Amino acid sequence: MRHEALTFLMCPDCDGELSLDGGAVPEADGHVMSGKLNCQRCASHFTIRNGVLVLLPATMASVKLETAARFAEEWTRWSDLRDYYEQEFFDWVAPLRAEDFAGQTVFEGGCGKGRHTAIVAAKGAKAIVALDLGESAFVAFAHTRSFANAHVVIGDLLKPPVRAVFDLAFSVGVLHHLPNPAEGFASLASRVRDGGRVAFWV
Ligand SMILES: [Zn+2]
Repeated sequence: MRHEALTFLMCPDCDGELSLDGGAVPEADGHVMSGKLNCQRCASHFTIRNGVLVLLPATMASVKLETAARFAEEWTRWSDLRDYYEQEFFDWVAPLRAEDFAGQTVFEGGCGKGRHTAIVAAKGAKAIVALDLGESAFVAFAHTRSFANAHVVIGDLLKPPVRAVFDLAFSVGVLHHLPNPAEGFASLASRVRDGGRVAFWV
């Protein structure tokens, strides 16, 4: 987790501002790998695990998260498939094109292993905040940690711990898995600023 992520994040329980507990020292590439964040408004605390901020609402705090070393093999395969993934992604979010992401602040609802997070980061987004509920977020972090503009967070798409400040929000292959896809779409769309855009593919 990079410090810059805090600009976009908020407490999932009360929408309050978050602050990093003192003593958390970033590594050479700017990431704080472990530590604690406190909500400035309510009593909630959140942890950074293996570089990923876990911002689950209190009602979901018991969700078990594990490190994802076992995914390592899977994500190293991506480098071979990058061109294909990129073509596929822009087919899905059409009519948005690569240049539509450049310079934009982007929210990704459901990033999985970070395949699309990496594409958007590489296309010059000002920032991308990628959210996922599961431990695949640790893989997404590994895959995108070298991008200064990419921020991966664990959280609930139905209660996204991000502010309504984004120029663009997108979700690929996620909304139809929710019990109520329309609710998921509304939640995604609620995080873009006035005049911002939303893209999804299911
Ligand atoms: Zn709070």
